[in-house]
Amino acid sequence: MRLSEIPVEGIPYDQLKIEKYTCTPEYAERPADLIPSGARAVVVNPNRTCMPLGAMWATMGLHKGIPFVQGAQGCTTYVRYTFSRVFKEPATIATASFHEDAAVFGGRRNLIEGIRNLVVRYRPEVIGICTTCSSEIIGDDMVSNIKAAKAKLREEIGREAADAVDIVLINTPSFAGSHVEGYDRASRAFVETLATRQTGPNHKVNIIPGLLYPGDIREIKHLLRHMGVEGITLFDISDPFDAPLRPPQKFPYEPPGGTTATEIRDMANSLATMALQPHAGQAGARYLERKYGVRALVGQTPVGVQGTDDFIRGLSEVAGLPVPEDLLDERGRLVDSLADTFHHTMMKKVAVMGDPDVVLSVTRFVLEMGMEPVALAGSSVSKTFVHSLREIFEEGEFTGDPLVINGGDLFEFEEYLKKLSRLDLVIGNSKAVDIAKELQIPLVRVGFPIYDRFGYQKRAIVGYRGGEILLADIVNSILGYQYPDDRTHQL
Ligand code: SF4
Repeated sequence: MRLSEIPVEGIPYDQLKIEKYTCTPEYAERPADLIPSGARAVVVNPNRTCMPLGAMWATMGLHKGIPFVQGAQGCTTYVRYTFSRVFKEPATIATASFHEDAAVFGGRRNLIEGIRNLVVRYRPEVIGICTTCSSEIIGDDMVSNIKAAKAKLREEIGREAADAVDIVLINTPSFAGSHVEGYDRASRAFVETLATRQTGPNHKVNIIPGLLYPGDIREIKHLLRHMGVEGITLFDISDPFDAPLRPPQKFPYEPPGGTTATEIRDMANSLATMALQPHAGQAGARYLERKYGVRALVGQTPVGVQGTDDFIRGLSEVAGLPVPEDLLDERGRLVDSLADTFHHTMMKKVAVMGDPDVVLSVTRFVLEMGMEPVALAGSSVSKTFVHSLREIFEEGEFTGDPLVINGGDLFEFEEYLKKLSRLDLVIGNSKAVDIAKELQIPLVRVGFPIYDRFGYQKRAIVGYRGGEILLADIVNSILGYQYPDDRTHQL
């Protein structure tokens, strides 16, 4: 780093971590040739989950939207369980419930019967059909199957009621990618199926947030409101996954909010589409640009000062509106917080893990804090991850040489961290809990999934205000871990 050390309140930097070691005494060193995930035929402690989850997440963000999983019950149950653990909300997800007969004869009958039951019992407005490994390997002709399911529906409930349900196919074979790609594919599938024509300018800006939490989406809406921009947020999970508990409760349960099918149709008429996570949502933005000339602005997630600046600048340019004073004040408060805490964060060695877009945006922010990234692990293989990191390093004038894992597993990440002589902090999701415990260092939780703490899904790390929350988490973790309690009174 270009910074030189500043002793903090008389405690030299290398003496801050008192009687703490970078791994527990029980640690037995592993054979070096088995550590890189590319050298093994087995994944140990995966950093990702399966592709249909991303498509189910997207569908849950639609008004009266229900995912239908064309696969076995296990492909559905795990995801419902994950959503419930993370969001503490019920998740209605239907399944074709494949058994041995479907594996042999295909899942056509399961789909037709399943769609019929789902519509008759739950009356959804949109169904996202998420395929799975098994249905893709069987080679189900999904287009023909969906046509047959629609014909059956018309017979049973009448043409008008049947045609009021939009059925969207999202191909999500999990062997071809992770939940991140599942979301990305869903972004394209929904706009391609529903936004079929332009009807005239609506002067709105499309936002595809990616795998962000309800609190983050609310913060993005706050920024839009203050900019005076009307937006269409695709896959708006802010209400479905953080619903108020208010009577009367209806049965079957219908979560409030979500993006309507009408709004998705209107996306073809917007000024531009801003995809806030290049790996999760870019496909939808690019499709609208190619098909209708709706400009696509694909940037890093607006975390930290520069990340949020880029977002606000893009919004201002697209809408032709100036940045209002109150947002400049929010920015100023984040800059002030960075200045107030720089002596705690500078030169601290940090490891970041999670989905590629989270790792990229958080890395950019920790460099703003003067921290030194030593290991960066993206959950899903990406063609652009390494290049984007390089750009971020150049922008932050960072000359270090961190380990970069592009889609490997957490075993590799953990073993590398254990060999470091010093590491101050891990930033990542709940899958890093055991690693942080083993290394006896703090974990700052960001990204998906966070299932071992409450409230993370409700708050933001995006925007200037979200940056202050994340900064406070990082600084307080460092203070709690590294400073003797009797010295923190002097800080
Ligand atoms: S990996 Fe494939 S078979 Fe396993 S749960 Fe995911 S979609 Fe289903």
